[in-house]
Amino acid sequence: MTSPPRVRLADGFLAAVTEHLAALPPERGGAILGFGGTAHLLVSDTFGEYSPASWLISEELSEAVGVLEALAKGTLMGTVHSHPRGIPDPSWADVMTTAKALKLNPHLDELLIAIVTEGTPREFDVALGDRHRMSVHVLRRRVGMSVARNRPVRAAVTVHPIAHHLGGAGLAPDFHVSVDEALEGRCTPAYPPMVRRADGRQVLVVPLPEDHRGLLFVDALHPVVSPLALRVDSHGGLLPQSSPWDPTQDAARQVQGLVRRLRLRPDPDQWSRVRSLVGSLADQRVLVAGAGSVGCRIAEDLVRCGVETLTILDPDTVSRPNLARSVYTSWDLDRPKVEVLAQRLRDINPAADIRACALALADADLEALLDGVDLVVMATDDMGEQAHLAHWAYARGVPQVACAMYRKGAAGEVVLVVPEADTPCWNCCVGADSRSGELRPDANYGLGGRLVGEAALGPAINLVSSVASQLAVGLLAGPRSLAGQGLGRLIAQRRTVGLVSTTPDWDFFPDAFGDLRHQHEPQSVWPTVEARDDCPICGPEREAPLSREQGAEFVRQLRELADAARSDDAEAGQGDA
Ligand SMILES: [Zn+2]
Ligand SMILES: [Zn+2]
Repeated sequence: MTSPPRVRLADGFLAAVTEHLAALPPERGGAILGFGGTAHLLVSDTFGEYSPASWLISEELSEAVGVLEALAKGTLMGTVHSHPRGIPDPSWADVMTTAKALKLNPHLDELLIAIVTEGTPREFDVALGDRHRMSVHVLRRRVGMSVARNRPVRAAVTVHPIAHHLGGAGLAPDFHVSVDEALEGRCTPAYPPMVRRADGRQVLVVPLPEDHRGLLFVDALHPVVSPLALRVDSHGGLLPQSSPWDPTQDAARQVQGLVRRLRLRPDPDQWSRVRSLVGSLADQRVLVAGAGSVGCRIAEDLVRCGVETLTILDPDTVSRPNLARSVYTSWDLDRPKVEVLAQRLRDINPAADIRACALALADADLEALLDGVDLVVMATDDMGEQAHLAHWAYARGVPQVACAMYRKGAAGEVVLVVPEADTPCWNCCVGADSRSGELRPDANYGLGGRLVGEAALGPAINLVSSVASQLAVGLLAGPRSLAGQGLGRLIAQRRTVGLVSTTPDWDFFPDAFGDLRHQHEPQSVWPTVEARDDCPICGPEREAPLSREQGAEFVRQLRELADAARSDDAEAGQGDA
């Protein structure tokens, strides 16, 4: 036996049927309006012709349904009427009437015939009050089958606790409207809700005017959909906020995804404390390569500052050691970092367009990734591939901010590259044979292939990542913004590498700061960087970006260089996975 079709009804609709049909003698009836397959509104036929044995649907009912549909109060789902005791199923006349209605409504695939009778609920029936039951039958459109042979199918009923939840929000809307009320335009304003479409789904929105909250119900989320609380902002946009009725985490995530796709704007108040510094970053598009402890912080900083279009690239999944110093939690273990991070960023700004690419740089199509991008953030643990990305980005004129940690998080580096200003490329700044390489604790830094996760404290990583975030936000906001105005000097003076020490007496810092008695960490030094004259990336004889094959060769050569350097210095290893 095949399982019965499932029909979803709002609890308030059942209450309305109980009050307006079951409480009266049979035959009484009305139309069912619903959203996204959930019946929620009873339109009782106050003009119908009723006798103890039949209900003749009035023309006014059809008219009222048309009016309500035009007002987006729901769509016709079928009819409900009461029968005398002992006749819990539709009569032949009921089926014929419904078949005719299907014919008149070619956009509908099926109509419900709900029958209310006194008696104990049978299997699939739903109880109405203490004494009544309702059976729901589905009449489907069957192409090629004669109307007389088409039989309705019993449906199993799921009741959605919509009135219950609305009650929890202090709202007691009416799930019932009579034909005369509907024709006079007297339908409860707050309910039925507005409908919006997203991804082919109907989304119901119930504004709650008193405290500027709203509710959102989404069809096909969950067998029983719990409403989510949304805040309605002054522009009529809807912001998800944690629900006082606590739907499942999954449902919340799905709804937030839908909200994002609906392009419901977040409240501009979200950026009221950064706008004077950065303006609007909503049109800026950023690629973040690497979603480790550095990349995840920078990505989050960017979205919190207002960047709305972000692509995150990282092949890894969340592992236990990541929890010590990143935004990831134990809920995220074994999930792709990019997916978890994308969700987190959407939670921060539901309107943000976050693309998650669970790919290594080597497997990514760099040309496509860089298309239309305003800034690249480089925070991967694969320095060879990152060099390749840097080459591509430079050739396409895309600014870059790179960030990496040194051994044990004692210090870290940030690199700023602005091709338009002819600043030295990433490779000239921090490549194996760069001058700034002399400043490093480890001469082979940067080109050693994939680095193993290095010991470092979260706060130390955050400190250096925050410097990178500031550069990134400044670049995006531009030199005329408060956030970006300091960058002009750094760029003009070619001081595009920042060495940030998080510990006292790091490397050459005592020499640099030895005379400054009041100095303490954190400290930073921004040395001038010279581009190599023969640099194929930023030098006068610039080469076009490398093809995928050339890129692989380029990466291979860099790795050879790094391996050679590593054999000189066995104690290699900075960076952070
Ligand atoms: Zn009947
Ligand atoms: Zn260069």
